[in-house]
Amino acid sequence: MEKRIVILGGGESGCGAAILAKKLGFDVFLSDFGTIADKYKKMLDDKGIEWEEKQHTESLILNAQEVIKSPGIPTEAPMVQKIMEAGIPIISEIEFAGRYTKAKMVCITGSNGKTTTTSLIYHIFREAGLNVGLAGNIGSSLALQVAEGDKDYYIVELSSFQLDNMYEFRADVAVLMNITPDHLDRYGYNMQNYVDAKLRILQNQGPDDAFVFWNDDPIIRKELPKHRHGKLYPFAEVKNEGMAAYTQNEKIVFTEPTPFNMEQEELSLTGKHNLYNSMAAGISANVAGIRKETIREALKSFKGVEHRLEKVATIDGVEYINDSKATNVNSCWYALQSMKRKCILILGGKDKGNNYDEIADLVREKCCGLIYLGADNSKLHNYFDSFGLPVADVQSMKSCIEAAHRMAKNGETVLLSPCCASFDLFKSYEDRGNQFKAEVKNLLENNG
Ligand code: ADP
Repeated sequence: MEKRIVILGGGESGCGAAILAKKLGFDVFLSDFGTIADKYKKMLDDKGIEWEEKQHTESLILNAQEVIKSPGIPTEAPMVQKIMEAGIPIISEIEFAGRYTKAKMVCITGSNGKTTTTSLIYHIFREAGLNVGLAGNIGSSLALQVAEGDKDYYIVELSSFQLDNMYEFRADVAVLMNITPDHLDRYGYNMQNYVDAKLRILQNQGPDDAFVFWNDDPIIRKELPKHRHGKLYPFAEVKNEGMAAYTQNEKIVFTEPTPFNMEQEELSLTGKHNLYNSMAAGISANVAGIRKETIREALKSFKGVEHRLEKVATIDGVEYINDSKATNVNSCWYALQSMKRKCILILGGKDKGNNYDEIADLVREKCCGLIYLGADNSKLHNYFDSFGLPVADVQSMKSCIEAAHRMAKNGETVLLSPCCASFDLFKSYEDRGNQFKAEVKNLLENNG
């Protein structure tokens, strides 16, 4: 009998895994406790893959030899617990797909900057004319791409949840941007569990592999000696022994393998966080042997990623910026830090165990008003009201933008950088960002 593979979760990664597994001749079944989007149902039907939704039928799941779990399903989910009790191995889609490709893997993780850095690396590789795919949290599923023809390189964004169920997978180039508290609700409120998950990006690396990381991150530095890793390519803002990239006299200096430099001002992305993202991307491309001219040009021409410090419009001299993807406190810190003008900060949503101490000083320095956008804003009131700034409490994007328009004066910025997940009032951070943009456009039309 063929090996039975059961896939939990019928989204992008689950469907991709199912299609690859079917192609490889396994006995495949996909189960989703929620509903499956029509596009994925059609994909599964077209390939003759059995699936179910709104339920998990144990008799069809617990007879699997291996389970591929979507990163969105927590370990605590009752079905996952039963699979573990039955001793059935659970792996991630990336782990599964990684077994069936010979492509070189450039993998990016970190608490913040993953999508930007991944997109930037992908952009450079494409500009270099390489046969490259974008996968992981963004792009189409790695498994699907492997099933449909494979590539020479994959640029893979890995969340800690994906890394949780990866064992044999090896990154040729591993990039770790930073580690700050996030998702603690899924790690038993234990920071070390989350840190350990991130460091799994290094597992199975050998001396021919590369590890690109932010040298100033105290957690990464502390963890490094505990792990086996490839050749080190650290980067930092200030020149330091052994750095693969640093800044000096307004230039970014790349030291190895091929030394070159470029004007910091030429980078298409601004803000200190994007300097780090650009360094990490430049080093990864350098390690892959891409020509320095190509790297330089690509770092100049990159267009940015939606919902990350995205400029939406200027109305009555007030600039509106969509940073809906800032779903934790640290990313909001970077957003505030890069602001040149006074801000009305919109924050709130589903709190993941946030500690706002990290942004307190910047809020005092840069903000001239706060808008709490959440179903329950009591924690924000308790923390920020005493700062003495004008405050608004809203439960929809429409009233949020109305409040912003009332509060903001010519020369100020309205910044949506919410520190929180979006699920209390919105479908996703994309939905939150899109609603923000739609309401700002409305305002623009009504004022125009
Ligand atoms: P991720 O995919 O890790 O969530 P993104 O690239 O989508 O990261 O960026 C999310 C937000 O985090 C951005 O809006 C920005 O405010 C912030 N950010 C981006 N890069 C960094 C970085 N290197 N360090 C800290 N914060 C960052």
